[in-house]
Parts: sequence; structure tokens; C-alpha cells
Amino acid sequence: MRTIIEKVNKNELNTEIIKEAGRILKEGGLVAFPTETVYGLGADALNEDAARKIYAAKGRPSDNPLIIHITNMDALGKITRNVSEKAKKVAQHYWPGPLTMIFDKSEIVPYGTTGGLDTVAVRMPVHDVAKEVIDAGGGYIAAPSANTSGRPSPTTAQHVAEDMDGRIDMIVDGGAVDIGVESTILDMTVDPPMILRPGAVTKEMLEELIGEIDVDRTLIQPDSKKVPKAPGMKYRHYAPKAELTIVEGNIDQVVCEINRLTDEKQKEGYKVGIIGTRETVGRYLYGDVKCIGTREDEATIAGNLYGILREFDDDKVDFIYSESFATDGIGSAIMNRLLKAAGHHVIRI
Ligand code: AMP
Ligand code: MG
Repeated sequence: MRTIIEKVNKNELNTEIIKEAGRILKEGGLVAFPTETVYGLGADALNEDAARKIYAAKGRPSDNPLIIHITNMDALGKITRNVSEKAKKVAQHYWPGPLTMIFDKSEIVPYGTTGGLDTVAVRMPVHDVAKEVIDAGGGYIAAPSANTSGRPSPTTAQHVAEDMDGRIDMIVDGGAVDIGVESTILDMTVDPPMILRPGAVTKEMLEELIGEIDVDRTLIQPDSKKVPKAPGMKYRHYAPKAELTIVEGNIDQVVCEINRLTDEKQKEGYKVGIIGTRETVGRYLYGDVKCIGTREDEATIAGNLYGILREFDDDKVDFIYSESFATDGIGSAIMNRLLKAAGHHVIRI
């Protein structure tokens, strides 16, 4: 299959390209497009055969359900049942935006999209290109991250092409995404509502709006024998090819320890990557040092995380050492993804 790659400008949308994307989606094809979180791999969510193609292209386990992307509240009514007043309030505040909510599904949503579940995950993105593509494609677009399963999620069209060239019909290139980590997932079928995956819309933001929010315990206790409530969270996601270790503690000691570990590994003949910040990169003495952003603005760290993990794959490093980050605000999403990428391998000093 030949993959068409077309650039669009966010502020000056090329309707011919969007129309073509819509035509492909309506015919049951696959189109990758940018959202504010990461690039999505879209298919018509109400067409079981189209949704199935997503699993094949990504190599995604079939029990890992897809998120349906919509652009308006009427569409929410068509694919769900029992939308509570709380959920409507959350939607009013945080949609469109980087938040997914889980509801009971309606009849028209095929089990091929929900991985056999009676619930459905729904998001209304704010990105202009995403909105146009969803509407052109019929209004109900299943769109998981557009990476091969197990690789870091794509934050540029180039990342999508690395994984999907020749496997999907089209990539709509709208430049680099804004946030860089996937949406918050909030289960609205339970009371209190429960966060199944942390993202840019935080527990604190949601609690301020609707009161108590639970967090899936498997996100907090990685060793717990319990299975995560979002089926996708049980897989070793976001993984670079190298062995990643997070070093946690006083920042001066962390820098010293990473220098020591890197020197040791290099002497054994290994190639080592380091994830530092603007505040520390000048202090690393050895290895392939990359700056992930600044601690003064954690959004920069979220924005560069997946891109840096992919760069280390290209550089073919054997080991990666990363500093640890604060866990408030967007930090809870950053550390959730980084810990998963590290298989929870942390050195505390
Ligand atoms: P992705 O779109 O690749 O970022 O992954 C979607 C995430 O949403 C996965 O972790 C899924 O397991 C989760 N998800 C989708 N639908 C449901 C659902 N009905 N119940 C719980 N989790 C869901
Ligand atoms: Mg994903």
C-alpha cells in the first residue's frame, strides 16, 4: 500500500486534503492525523472492519479498546447511554480538550471498536485539523496513537511515517503536537469517577469541578497484582529499545550518580544515553546527552519525552539514564509514561 503524506497548515486548512482524508475514512480506510495530545490513527469507529484494520496496522492486541473521537455533544448522545450530570459538567469545562471519558456504549458502537466491552471511551479534541478530519470522515473516528504497539507515541508526522509508512492510506501532517502525552482517561461509569490514565487534565482540576475523584491503584502501585482498568495500561507501552533507568533524589547527587553509571557502562563498551534538563545538561561528562526541557515549565518535558525516546532508538544506545521529575500537574502524566518506559526500574539515592 502506498501511504499519501500531505502537509496542512493549522491556520489555513486545505479543504482538498481534508476532503480526501474524509473520503478515505468513509470508505473504511486508515488516516493518521494530529491532535493536541499525540498523532492519532483514525478509522470509522462505527465500521467494524475499518476499526479492525487499526489493530492490524499497529500490531495492537485485540482486547485493547479504541477511543472514539467526536466534535459535538449530539454525537456523544448517539454512541453512549447514561451520561450523568457530572459528566456533562466535565464535558462543558474540558471538552474540546485532552480528556477522554468512559460511558456505557449504545447499540450502534460495534464490539470490534470497544474490544468486546459494553463501555466506550470518547474524546472531543480541540486541534483544528483533528476536528476537520473527524467531521469529514463522518463524525465518529476511532483513533489510538499512530505508533506501532509498544513504541513511543508519535508527536510528529515523521514519527508516524517511521512506524506506518506502507501500512495506512494517508498521513495528514499538521506539524508537531502541542502536549505530547496522551489524554487523561476518566471512567464516568463508576462513582466517584476514576482516573485510569493521567494526562494534561489533572485529578486536582477535576476535583475542583465535581468533587471526589479516584485513581486506579495500579497506576500508583506498579507491583500490585491487580489488572489495570484501562486494558491498554497493562501492556509495556512507550518503550525505547534500550534499557531505561530513572535516577531519583537530590539533583546534585543524581547528576553525580548518572555520570558515574555512564562512565562505568562506557568502559564496558556500551553506548549510553542521558535524559537531562536545561538546568543540568552542561554538567554531564560522558554519553549521548539530550535536553528534555526545563524544570521551570514541565510542559516542555511532556512535549519532548516521546521524541527523545525515539531519538535514542535511532542512536542505538544500549542504556539510558534519566533524571526524575515532579509528580504534580502534568508531571503525573510524565512520570507515569517514564516509569512505564523504564519498566519501573528506579535507582533512589
Ligand atoms: P490509545 O488511544 O492508544 O492512547 O489507548 C487508548 C487507551 O484507552 C487504552 O489504554 C485503552 O485500554 C483505554 N480504553 C479505551 N476504551 C476503554 C474502555 N471502554 N474502558 C477502559 N479503558 C478504555
Ligand atoms: Mg497508544
